[in-house]
Amino acid sequence: MRAKADAQVICVEPALRHPNVRMLTGAEVERLETSASGREVTGVVVRRGGAVETYSASIVVAACGAINSAALLLRSANERHPHGLANRSGVVGRHYMCHLNSMLLAVSRQPNPTRFQKTWGLNDYYHGSEEWPYPMGHMSMIGKTDASILRAGAPRLVPGMTLEIMARHTLSFWLTSEDLPDPANRVSVDGDGRITLSYTPNNEEGHTRLIGKLKSLLHEIGCQDHLIPLQAYIPARIPLAGVAHQNGTVRFGRDPETSALDANCKAHDVDNLYVVDGSFFPSSGAVNPALTIMANALRVADHLIQRLG
Ligand SMILES: Cc1cc2nc3c(=O)[nH]c(=O)nc-3n(C[C@H](O)[C@H](O)[C@H](O)COP(=O)(O)OP(=O)(O)OC[C@H]3O[C@@H](n4cnc5c(N)ncnc54)[C@H](O)[C@@H]3O)c2cc1C
Repeated sequence: MRAKADAQVICVEPALRHPNVRMLTGAEVERLETSASGREVTGVVVRRGGAVETYSASIVVAACGAINSAALLLRSANERHPHGLANRSGVVGRHYMCHLNSMLLAVSRQPNPTRFQKTWGLNDYYHGSEEWPYPMGHMSMIGKTDASILRAGAPRLVPGMTLEIMARHTLSFWLTSEDLPDPANRVSVDGDGRITLSYTPNNEEGHTRLIGKLKSLLHEIGCQDHLIPLQAYIPARIPLAGVAHQNGTVRFGRDPETSALDANCKAHDVDNLYVVDGSFFPSSGAVNPALTIMANALRVADHLIQRLG
């Protein structure tokens, strides 16, 4: 089946109110087809309910997340784009980043009755500290830890405290540091379309020091002087399968030799293809990524509104 989209699907409110905009659920985009010149995407090949459908539109925006957008472009290789769509530079799939994250519990001497704990963050050590002049990262909280979460991490974590008492006294920290864009950290796709993610953490010294910094503050903020890795959620550090902060695999930049997208997140080599998700990051910073992804999507949407007149 070949369907023709009458309007571009841009997820901004006025567009969603447009009668021609539809959202397809249960639809997996398998690949993108291009014109013979390779300059435009002419078909979005979708598997939906067991059937294969092809859609077309004057502008195509991929927003599958950093791993799947890269995989989609790589799977869409054709004669004009032998290494994957928009991949003349060879960067598509590379520079995968996901942050160095740790979840750590501190036990406060006073009960912590807060319900909305995840409203606190601290960037005082983002760029370093007196002892370490390099970036260390960001401290914030995660949602309040309760006894059932702690139980999953039993045996008992603090001698003399029941899990219920301990849960009332916990402060649950989320520490994020920047991992650096290493081209060897990458998403690749085999001949059957299966995705492989290869990742070796880097830049770990700053993260270790950030944990040390938090530990050094515990006494001052009224806590026992040790941090407990929140094993109930994860081993102390998030393993390869924890791809929540995936970014960086379809980086933007001014130079087509070293980036896949231009400053508007349009593919350098394809005139009507945009990638607007966490994959455009050229570096990962050290804060949760969602707001940056959303802000960029709004920025690109403004550009698209202008482009569409
Ligand atoms: C448990 C968890 C907690 C998190 N907490 C926070 C937080 O507190 N703060 C924060 O800033 N960030 C948080 N994040 C990270 C945040 O959710 C992501 O950074 C953000 O959602 C990424 O946005 P994205 O647009 O790049 O991709 P996504 O939000 O992943 O969107 C990609 C979409 O594309 C779809 N898709 C993928 N492949 C295809 C395909 N081939 N065809 C069709 N559709 C496809 C997916 O189903 C998905 O709906 C969290 C993530 C997780 C998993």
